[in-house]
Amino acid sequence: MTQPPMRKGQAVHRTVWAGAAVALCAAAAARRRPLAGLAVAGAAAAVGASAYLPSSPLLGRVVHRGPADVPRAALTFDDGPGPSTPHVLDALAAEGVRATFFVLGRQVERHPGLVRRMVEEGHEVASHGYDHGILIWRGARHVAEQLARTERAVARAAGPDAMSRLFRAPHGFRGPATALGCRRAGYRPAAWTRGVFDSAEPGAAAIARRVERALEPGAVILLHDADGWAPGRPRQQTADALPEICRAARERGLELVPMGRLVAAA
Ligand SMILES: [Zn+2]
Repeated sequence: MTQPPMRKGQAVHRTVWAGAAVALCAAAAARRRPLAGLAVAGAAAAVGASAYLPSSPLLGRVVHRGPADVPRAALTFDDGPGPSTPHVLDALAAEGVRATFFVLGRQVERHPGLVRRMVEEGHEVASHGYDHGILIWRGARHVAEQLARTERAVARAAGPDAMSRLFRAPHGFRGPATALGCRRAGYRPAAWTRGVFDSAEPGAAAIARRVERALEPGAVILLHDADGWAPGRPRQQTADALPEICRAARERGLELVPMGRLVAAA
């Protein structure tokens, strides 16, 4: 049976309780062997923190940037397709820029025509899982199922070869089994160099300014063409920021390419 997606708050809650349990065990062990107790607590804290650090290598290698000596960067869009995706695609088409869309399987089923359009216009379609559920506490089988279900939805929408092999976990949060599930399903974990919090809707000018500051050779910029938790919510500000972002990249001599191409050598 399919489980409902785990929300961010639930995952954090569970991590705090697990942390408290480990701390109690470590304290008990520390009475007899202080060094062993400290080592257990330290290792658990490092793993626990890594779950929330998208590019930490402790929970498996994650590709998050391209080479720093090649003048290229990537724009990536999470959580779609949704109501603002056509505006994002229009803006990218007007600038002649190709990007990567980390799509949710659930959204692909709702908007198959938009996924077809992404592929037709030369963008990369990558996976963000099926339902945006947090994966920290999920087993490898659950992770692999999320990926397989999304891949089937993309194949139905845009053909069997439409999906790239990059996978970005919701919020970048990973658990001990995420890398294994990802490998089983044939994907490579992906993160980013800079998120600009466009989902907080700070205005198109602020979004563009933040991206401009983060643009450098090898950068992978995290943006959103939809909302993973509120699929009907628009991301118009992000679409409106794109002409300015593309202009800034051109001025710096940076070519904007899909992430798969950017990290091919990484
Ligand atoms: Zn997301």
